[in-house]
Amino acid sequence: MPEESTVRIALLILVMFAIGLIVVRGLGATAAETPATASPTVTVLSEDIPVTDRLVLSDAEWKQRLTPEQYTVLRRKGTEPAFCGGYSATKHHGAGTYHCSGCQNPLFTNDTKFESGTGWPSFFQPLPGRVEKESDTSYGMVRDEVHCARCGGHLGHVFDDGPAPTRLRYCINAVSLQFVPTKAASEVTAAGPTAKATFGAGCFWGVEATFREVPGVVDAKVGYEGGTLINPTYEDVCSAETGHAEVVEVVYDPSKVSYERLLTVFWENHDPTTLNRQGPDHGSQYRSAVFAHTPEQRATAEAMKAKLESDKKFRRPIVTEIVAAQTFYAAEEYHQQYLEKKGLKNCHR
Ligand SMILES: [Zn+2]
Repeated sequence: MPEESTVRIALLILVMFAIGLIVVRGLGATAAETPATASPTVTVLSEDIPVTDRLVLSDAEWKQRLTPEQYTVLRRKGTEPAFCGGYSATKHHGAGTYHCSGCQNPLFTNDTKFESGTGWPSFFQPLPGRVEKESDTSYGMVRDEVHCARCGGHLGHVFDDGPAPTRLRYCINAVSLQFVPTKAASEVTAAGPTAKATFGAGCFWGVEATFREVPGVVDAKVGYEGGTLINPTYEDVCSAETGHAEVVEVVYDPSKVSYERLLTVFWENHDPTTLNRQGPDHGSQYRSAVFAHTPEQRATAEAMKAKLESDKKFRRPIVTEIVAAQTFYAAEEYHQQYLEKKGLKNCHR
């Protein structure tokens, strides 16, 4: 019976459309029943990653780097349940930027965010060139899918029912975002101007603990620097194939401690004469290195190295490499203040 089958097909299309609408717009009533998703992994963020610096990883690598929720949304075009991912209320966050949680590409600023009532973070405008659009015909609709221009990660969709000035609504999954607050001017002046110094001196646990004890050091973080891979993991760096050194990035107050003093601590607390080795630790990741943040730091480090050599402070030649600072990738949280966490703070030498 042709008439009946036409009705059936029409009904089927209607049902599919309704499902599509539920998925796209979200239902407030389901909010309380859906569990909260895991928070995104904490990774180092940079404000000025060029979009051209594309991040291409294999599926296995993405699986390793992302939480299951991030992987489903970013790499499998999934949609998180509405009202679950955080970031949905405009007022919860101050000034800052929402970055791609897959690759740290800055995507939207807080002043383009608005409360859409959908349960997903909504923005009327992305940062120029930071997102890409692609037509999506799933759920019987034609929608514009939004991707991160750097890693290709699926972020959400864009609709033309947003507010002025663009009239667009970028409906983005919260798990694909990481919010980076802009430091308040008062915060910056209260803390005084700080500077950074980065050193590689073998296993970074002990190096971090040493620098944390130096008066004038505001903060110290362990991480990876000087290699080729973007966002390396501890396992990547341990393979010694990525070229990264285990480093400590020190934030210090130059009015309280000089860079020379930090260099002294650096040279006194490791053996700068053993190439790619510190005690039992072998490999280029354990190399002795100074990553200079300014030409002045570099000149100071080079002058000091020459002076130590001429004064014959070490029995063998110093092999410390002095190079310009590169991107610092903070190590996984469990490596931060590791010795302190393990109650081994004084066992690093
Ligand atoms: Zn991305």
